Amino acid sequence: MKKTFNRQQRKSIELRSEKISLRKKRLEVLEKWMLQNREAIKAALASDLGKSAHEADISEVFPALSEVRKARRKLNLWSRAKQVKSSMTFIGTRAKIAYEPKGVCLIISPWNYPFMLAVGPLISALSAGNTVFLKPSEFTPATSALLKTMVEALFDEEVAVVYEGDANVAQQLLQLPFNHIFFTGSPAVGKIIMKHAAAHLSSVTLELGGKSPTIVDETASIKDAAHKIAWGKWINAGQTCVAPDHLYIHRSISDEFITQLKNEVSKLFGKPEDYTRIVNEKHFDRLSELLKETSESSILLSGKVDKSELIIDPVICKDISAESGLMREEIFGPILSIIEFEELDQVVATINEAEKPLALYLFSKSRKNKNFVLRQTSSGSVVVNDCVLQFAHPHLPFGGVNNSGFGKSHGEYGFRAFSNEKAVLKQKIGLTMSGLLYPPANKWKNKLLDMLIKYF
Ligand code: NAD
Repeated sequence: MKKTFNRQQRKSIELRSEKISLRKKRLEVLEKWMLQNREAIKAALASDLGKSAHEADISEVFPALSEVRKARRKLNLWSRAKQVKSSMTFIGTRAKIAYEPKGVCLIISPWNYPFMLAVGPLISALSAGNTVFLKPSEFTPATSALLKTMVEALFDEEVAVVYEGDANVAQQLLQLPFNHIFFTGSPAVGKIIMKHAAAHLSSVTLELGGKSPTIVDETASIKDAAHKIAWGKWINAGQTCVAPDHLYIHRSISDEFITQLKNEVSKLFGKPEDYTRIVNEKHFDRLSELLKETSESSILLSGKVDKSELIIDPVICKDISAESGLMREEIFGPILSIIEFEELDQVVATINEAEKPLALYLFSKSRKNKNFVLRQTSSGSVVVNDCVLQFAHPHLPFGGVNNSGFGKSHGEYGFRAFSNEKAVLKQKIGLTMSGLLYPPANKWKNKLLDMLIKYF
């Protein structure tokens, strides 16, 4: 590891002055490889998670290809230094923000969208001219092995390298003085990453998780909300960082909404081949424990729960105690708990008492309610009348706030996460505006200073 790190460190200095066309070349080969190996990607995802080919295309192959295509198209623009204006004391100078690569970067990725969440940051890191160590999740070995094959086929080790393995491998990597660490995973591990980063003052992007609440108010279109929530919650069997975690429904429409939601679940995921399985026994057991805590009377929908196949069919439950695991932990699985409400401000107060979520969803036709929720809550993203889609929006930053993470990713935001925004100031030779204020002080200089303090 150390040897490879040293090689990448030397290469990263060379990459600082490399032509943008060479970075684009790397993106081009990556794009080509993904297109040529689309079936292999889908096969790996089917082996690791039982993802259907359709879902793998929608949620992994297509977003990765859009990300790389956008980077190829926009890289000249993103990497161009941005001129900035001068103020009074800087008359005669020229100033710009230059985007330089951070250097040697570490990407640690999770298992839930194991291809997209590894390749996405890899694209951003390479776009910004960095070298990369990538450590994918040990829970999705087929995809991790494919990522290794891909990186080995496309790049020399001094540009990008994949280390497969678990937390121990990640811990070894974290001993190295990376210039930037991009971590996607749980808030608990995010804290460990930050501690290690602190030893070297490595900058970090933390893409974390948590509980993303969904509100359906009394003005919402019930059918529309049920349709979209059914998709957003149970795609990837609920193992999505921005999936609706729990749902607040206005009491007046609760029964009708729940009936619609059940219908939609069966329409979208009724066929076993369209439904993803739980990643492994550890997570299956975690989710089963959450279900065991739940009384039978509060379960409104359930189906097959089969450890041998790692299948947990969609579960909807209601009236769950605030102390239960379902209401305290991130569910990260196919269980949706529903809470009825009468006053929106009480829902907002409950949301504000908890950690700031990665995403917050509101289904409503009321402008007043939309403004109220937008202004009174804090979260990485808010979506009105849909869910999960913000992840794929090409022009929005993606990320959390505090407990759900910090730093942004995707497109230009991802490029910036892996770039140092270097301030470049060019001064003229000889008499300068700021030089007029150098000591020794005199009456004239003091007058000038008084004027600056008063007016500028
Ligand atoms: P995780 O934190 O357990 O693991 C993520 C990565 O960290 C893996 O590669 C793992 O090997 C490594 N890791 C685990 N323990 C470690 C340790 N002690 N030291 C160093 N590295 C360690 O997360 P997960 O279970 O893979 O993913 C689920 C979590 O990720 C959920 O909280 C989910 O919300 C979040 N998530 C967030 C996003 C996002 O974009 N914000 C996307 C997907 C998942």
